[in-house]
Amino acid sequence: MKLVYWFINDKVDGKKEMKNLLGGKGANLAEMASIGFPVPPGFTITTDVCTYFNENNKIYHEGLKEDVKNAISGIEEAMNHKFGDKDNPLLVSVRSGARVSMPGMMDTVLNLGLNDETVEGLAMATGNERFAYDSYRRFIQMYGDVVMGVPHHDFEEILNGVKDEKGITQDLELTADDLKDVIERYKKLIINKLGHIFPQDVNEQLWGSITAVFDSWNNKRAKDYRKIHNISDEWGTAVNVQSMVYGNMGDDCATGVAFTRNAANGENIFNGEFLVNAQGEDVVAGIRTPQEMNLATKGNSTLPTLEEVMPEVYQELVVIRDKLENHYRDMQDIEFTIEKGKLWMLQTRNGKRTGKAAIKIAVDMVKEDLISKEEALMRVEPMQLDQLLHPIIDPVEIKNHKPFAKGLAASPGAAIGKVVFFPEEAINAKENGIDTILVRTETSPEDVAGMNACNGIFTSRGGMTSHAAVVARGMGKTCVVGCEAITVDYKTETIKIGDLTINKNEYITVDGTSGNVYLGKLKTIDPKIEDDFHDFMVWVNEIRRLGVRANADTPHDAKVARDFGAQGIGLCRTEHMFFAEDRIKIMREMILSDSREEREKALAKILPMQKEDFAGIFRVMDGYPVIIRLLDPPLHEFLPEDKELIKELSNEMNLSVEEIKEKIDSLHESNPMLGHRGCRLGITYPEITKMQARAVFEAACEVEKEGVNVFPEVMIPLVGIEAELSSQRIVVEEAAKETIAKYNSSIRYMIGTMIELPRATVIADKIAKHADFFSFGTNDLTQTTFGFSRDDVGKILKVYIDDKQILKNDPFAVLDREGVGQLLRTAIEKGRMTKPELEIGICGEHGGEPSSVEFCHLINMDYVSCSPFRVPIAMLAAAQSVIKEKKGEIKSFGKLLVK
Ligand code: ADP
Ligand code: MG
Ligand code: MG
Repeated sequence: MKLVYWFINDKVDGKKEMKNLLGGKGANLAEMASIGFPVPPGFTITTDVCTYFNENNKIYHEGLKEDVKNAISGIEEAMNHKFGDKDNPLLVSVRSGARVSMPGMMDTVLNLGLNDETVEGLAMATGNERFAYDSYRRFIQMYGDVVMGVPHHDFEEILNGVKDEKGITQDLELTADDLKDVIERYKKLIINKLGHIFPQDVNEQLWGSITAVFDSWNNKRAKDYRKIHNISDEWGTAVNVQSMVYGNMGDDCATGVAFTRNAANGENIFNGEFLVNAQGEDVVAGIRTPQEMNLATKGNSTLPTLEEVMPEVYQELVVIRDKLENHYRDMQDIEFTIEKGKLWMLQTRNGKRTGKAAIKIAVDMVKEDLISKEEALMRVEPMQLDQLLHPIIDPVEIKNHKPFAKGLAASPGAAIGKVVFFPEEAINAKENGIDTILVRTETSPEDVAGMNACNGIFTSRGGMTSHAAVVARGMGKTCVVGCEAITVDYKTETIKIGDLTINKNEYITVDGTSGNVYLGKLKTIDPKIEDDFHDFMVWVNEIRRLGVRANADTPHDAKVARDFGAQGIGLCRTEHMFFAEDRIKIMREMILSDSREEREKALAKILPMQKEDFAGIFRVMDGYPVIIRLLDPPLHEFLPEDKELIKELSNEMNLSVEEIKEKIDSLHESNPMLGHRGCRLGITYPEITKMQARAVFEAACEVEKEGVNVFPEVMIPLVGIEAELSSQRIVVEEAAKETIAKYNSSIRYMIGTMIELPRATVIADKIAKHADFFSFGTNDLTQTTFGFSRDDVGKILKVYIDDKQILKNDPFAVLDREGVGQLLRTAIEKGRMTKPELEIGICGEHGGEPSSVEFCHLINMDYVSCSPFRVPIAMLAAAQSVIKEKKGEIKSFGKLLVK
């Protein structure tokens, strides 16, 4: 097995495709060397060695030492210096580099090979004593920190102490003698701390550093980073050993970092930062203000640019920039060093970028003929589109502020407002033009108007599909939920966390993109949808197979969805329509009625209101189907809890307070989520189904007469038994036929069901006999399959995902392919067996989550439906699924009957 890969002038073993084995840094150093770019000679020890080392009690493969020795000889020959030689020493850097970049997570040691003897040789050979001792000082500091474990700040303290004593402020003002003084103090520090000296043997230094890099794969920082970014612990890091080039030899030297295009907005402008007379880490460490690359990016900087100070090297870099982009066909993030006017390339990788930049760069590169449209579509993470559609917190602000709490990032964007605890307050504040954040332990349907009026929502309980999360996403409103660390006290109107108390009317900023919540008002940046986005979405739509609809309950939300390109409504929940003040009263009357007659009287009053809502949505969705779900939630959700309201109701209904209370009690259920809800309501009270169906069809017929193309689909929820659906279907069908005949209309319609119970999925062949369509309600289906309560699962998931790793993801956010997904497949197969033309979609929250959308594509659904702001995300995920399938990266499941 080959353990060591060279990139020594034209002896290059690696290439850019070998990231898994050589790490990103090593693979790209080899690639750059083989294109002929100036890369300091060096070699890469593979990630296999790291894995072996960590699995075998920190021992190395046999023969590794020999291979490294040979490679060092290779560098020595190429550079004409000798490692450890006291007259002409070779110095190297030892650099970590994993498969994917993990910025700042693992360690690097520079100037390795210096000791009390070689430092003198270096001074003699270069005629630059200050440089030699500056390098030695840096080396001891890095090695002392990374390998020997003496904290960095102990060294910094010494360095600052010497500067103070000399009355200087800049590192550059330290003379060679000052640096010798620093070095002596550094060595003493190490002896005092560790009881042994800084190693003088260069081979001990080399192996100490290599081992430290392999060890750093398992340091806490790196582990945490991997967990957050879903990077496997098994990949390991490679180690790169590379001849040093010096940016710190004088004013004809420099070091810098650059992006081939702008990583924030995507503009095709070369940009970056550099420092004269410095080494790599100085640029990021912020000890001096770095200088700009060129006149185009100089801005208000008073410092000269690289283009001005070293015009020839700058031109060379511009040529390399173009070649790199042509070669990698992507924006690059590079590191370089200039030694006495000579340019050296130290790193290149695909640059990280914002969503906005990702789109612009992808679209521009297609127009520049660098990449194909399909490649462009793969260059943008679907979730990155979120940043384009919502305001975000200015990244500078995020750096400078610490959040006081963190919850689940339920609905993206940034919101600022005064803390309020009650929905009415949010509503009043809005009328007075005041921004609020509604803070609740959790929300319920009664709070919807207040949720609509506030700028953002923050709750202490609930998961990714809790009421607050789902409703906020539907509204496109910023929301953080399930922040268990806070205590919401409605009595004192305060939020408490640790020693901190936040009072009503204090300003907070909620970041629904990260889940962080900050005190005060942070600066935000507004989104701007640009032409590039439109071009990009046109390509997305050319390629995707899955349809994309939206979940929308109001004409306003439907309009937002349509503007994003939604091809219909996949779920219109009718219950939210009942919470408006004028309606809830009638609704309560209906619920508390004793006889069918009374109920029908109340329902007759609701009918015209519902009809108007539906008509509004049909008009917006002209030409597209609209799925309307019949009443679904447990009835008691509509009933008042507070005394005042109960009293009011008793007056209106001519009943005593006692009687009302009794009725409310009689509706109480211990498990409302598994209670009298869904089609069970329509079965006990068919008149509700009838009223809703009539409202749908009257609206449809009337709107059709206006010239609108309507296509209603009536959805019966929570079906688990064949006869539930067949009996409800009769009620809906009767209303449909009657109404259509009455209006002498010719509209077409469908009647179908929401599949959200495991039983329904296994008898889907029977259910399909009575359904024209299936829509998977994967929120409830996940709840019932796992037996997890959607609203209380937060605490359990924390243990399951973070602490015990029993689950990888929140199954309410990312569809569980293994369990719930299997039920979906079964239902689709059985459903289409009975009825090949069955229309099949998903309307759970998963419909807007990229990996779940991919699964829906793979099991041959017809469409996904998601909240309006997720429509573009779902569309891109659908397009990427097609491309990945074409490339053979993913495969559709089994042989399904396709219509
Ligand atoms: P990171 O992955 O944290 O960026 P690097 O391995 O890239 O760490 O090294 C940190 C800094 O040291 C970089 O700025 C790089 O340019 C500089 N550096 C690394 N190796 C050398 C070298 N052989 N000669 C000069 N500078 C180097
Ligand atoms: Mg680097
Ligand atoms: Mg449901």
